[in-house]
Amino acid sequence: MRTVDEHLAEVLRVVQPLAPLELSLLDAHGCVLAEDVTAIAPLPGFDNSSMDGYAVRAADVTSVPCHLPVVGDVAAGPASPLRVQPGLCVRIMTGASMPAGADTVVQVEHTDGGIAHVRIDVLPVRGQNIRRAGEDVQAGELVLAEGSHLGSAQIGLAAAVGRSRLIVRPRPRVVVLSTGSELVEPGTLLQPGMIHDSNSMALTTACQEAGAIAYRVGIVPDDGRQLMDAMEDQLVRADLLITSGGVSVGAYDVVKEVLSRLGTVGFHKVAMQPGMPQGFGTIGPDATPVFGLPGNPVSALVSFEAFVRPALRRMLGAQTLTRPVVSAVTTEELQSSPGRRSFLRVWLDVVDGAYVCRPVSGSGSHLMAGFARANALAIVPEDTVVVPAGASVQVALLERRVR
Ligand code: AMP
Ligand code: MG
Repeated sequence: MRTVDEHLAEVLRVVQPLAPLELSLLDAHGCVLAEDVTAIAPLPGFDNSSMDGYAVRAADVTSVPCHLPVVGDVAAGPASPLRVQPGLCVRIMTGASMPAGADTVVQVEHTDGGIAHVRIDVLPVRGQNIRRAGEDVQAGELVLAEGSHLGSAQIGLAAAVGRSRLIVRPRPRVVVLSTGSELVEPGTLLQPGMIHDSNSMALTTACQEAGAIAYRVGIVPDDGRQLMDAMEDQLVRADLLITSGGVSVGAYDVVKEVLSRLGTVGFHKVAMQPGMPQGFGTIGPDATPVFGLPGNPVSALVSFEAFVRPALRRMLGAQTLTRPVVSAVTTEELQSSPGRRSFLRVWLDVVDGAYVCRPVSGSGSHLMAGFARANALAIVPEDTVVVPAGASVQVALLERRVR
């Protein structure tokens, strides 16, 4: 038996960040930046109006009401050659470059909105309603550091400083296959003894949620030859492979046998509940990492959380590999097997400003409906057998949905 931490440490020793690649901005979304991005020009690039109104010289508006002739319009777009001479003004729109001579913008709401002449009703403060060049970003400034996660705001900033492509760590391509001669496609009729393949669906979408590009291969029966062929076919497009099923001690558990033949894959009993049998190693000419996850649906998903998701995050170049963990008070007693780390399906809530969790499932590793009711996993350490109601427990958030 090895501990969860020992197994994870081995996984993270083997799995490395993917080599950087230049991608277009939209493809780079969700990736980790592998270069420093600096601004060539300032942001804003030029002094411009933050309001629709009138560009004036403050010295011309010293008392109100004040009447000024309007000599033209400037709109957002190519800079206008208009110049504001003393005693005159220009109608200006939001985002338009400040015309030479003007030092202040009076918003239209403080005027009569006139076109040839305007009446200003509120005394302006010199310089008001102007967004200054470089106020946001200076020329030469570092705007996004290597290692930054590229969410929508960061993609927008890269575009604002003029970048159309970025060097990032690409999304890992993951191939997911389910093994088991009892499996049929969801949507097809079940013959006696058969079940729908749920693992490949859950694992493929879990990979996508973790930021990977996941390919669901689907079902491979418990047949060494067919599994071998499927694995060899899939290796070319995979940065990582995941199988489910066939890793226990049953007579037809062929995954062990095939993976051991294709590379250096070890099978270990990991001191956890659920998910005790775990296969991990590398196969093929490029030493592609492969996870042989247990077949029980809850075991497969908990194993994904414990080992595969951190591996995918490492490949992405992410700084945090694990889910956010909070301390929560359990409303009910939690039980755990001695010597094993338990991952219990709970609902995490905020009650009076404090985290509270409540078990939503039994501990059986086939209880998929219980898992689907959970938004978090309570993690009971190896040396704890009972967490009494009212005591604190560490809880990993599976999603942001906290009621
Ligand atoms: P195994 O790890 O192959 O011994 O499978 C353990 C249990 O998980 C058995 O009850 C299987 O029928 C079930 N199981 C295996 N693979 C899947 C799958 N892809 N979808 C749903 N259940 C599965
Ligand atoms: Mg099986």
